[in-house]
Amino acid sequence: MLTSRKDITMNALLGFAVGDAYGVPYEFLTREQISHLTLGDMVGCESDAPLSYWGSRIPAGAWSDDTSMIVASMDSVVRKGHFDSDDIMKSFINWWYHGQYTSLSYPFGLGGTVAHALDHYQSGYAADQCGMDSFYDNGNGSLMRILPYSLYCIFNDFDFKKTCEVISKGSSLTHAHEISQMCCVIYTELLRRIINGYDIHRAILVTMRCPYQLYFSKEVIDQLRPEFEDVHGLKMEDLADENGYVVETLKGVIYSLLHSHNYEEAIKIAVTIGYDTDTVAGITGAVAGVIYGASSIPEQWLNTLKRKEYLEKLADDFVKVIA
Ligand SMILES: [Mg+2]
Repeated sequence: MLTSRKDITMNALLGFAVGDAYGVPYEFLTREQISHLTLGDMVGCESDAPLSYWGSRIPAGAWSDDTSMIVASMDSVVRKGHFDSDDIMKSFINWWYHGQYTSLSYPFGLGGTVAHALDHYQSGYAADQCGMDSFYDNGNGSLMRILPYSLYCIFNDFDFKKTCEVISKGSSLTHAHEISQMCCVIYTELLRRIINGYDIHRAILVTMRCPYQLYFSKEVIDQLRPEFEDVHGLKMEDLADENGYVVETLKGVIYSLLHSHNYEEAIKIAVTIGYDTDTVAGITGAVAGVIYGASSIPEQWLNTLKRKEYLEKLADDFVKVIA
């Protein structure tokens, strides 16, 4: 793919933020409820999505916790010149408690596992020890914010084992269970193939052939590999109604990418799946942004996005540091 690293970073970040903002008004609605709505322009929660979980608080174009945590991580890397776990955790604290890195002037949408990790950090745990590691801590909260780490590994051509180490460490700030870590690695390896010009079908096949045994336990590999080897035949009804579990989120992302032919379609499919619409659409949007380019994002969506220039500048500054 003949796209510069700067453009890839920009396309991924804008693709993510637009997907997140597009999905916010539909968050926690069921697939059934969403099936009765017309998905068109980017709207807010105030009037166009009357059933919205967020009531009338959130205007159109506002991106949520997902993008905020990516932005907080990228800003930390720009300031420190490298990935500094302690400073990234401080940035997360500044996001949630002080409204920094938000699309409005306040944060919204904190996940339970992230909340626990922030509590750990504030009570004195070392940054790398803050993540939760039980099976029930496998929500999508690290997958949704792993993008900066993914780009760092891809642009520096880290081999598979090193990528597993960097990504797992990044995930573990909040989500330290192997399932979360491995899903973040699958996503990173998928993005790597897309950036290298593979189509999405081939990218998935090749990604699932990576030597996961170099880093992950047999038990977790045996659990996850079958989930993603058969994704090509996946139907909407095969996807869980409540997709906050990181494995279900990633399946939703891959389903949306496999069944779409442009950015807009990918995001609308991601939202149609229902429930964690902002997160699935955000993660999908980063990949779709890389595949189709930010220029393929509908103009109304991009123009409605909050703090677009800030995101563009951050992407530019970030790529200068990591690549
Ligand atoms: Mg969110």
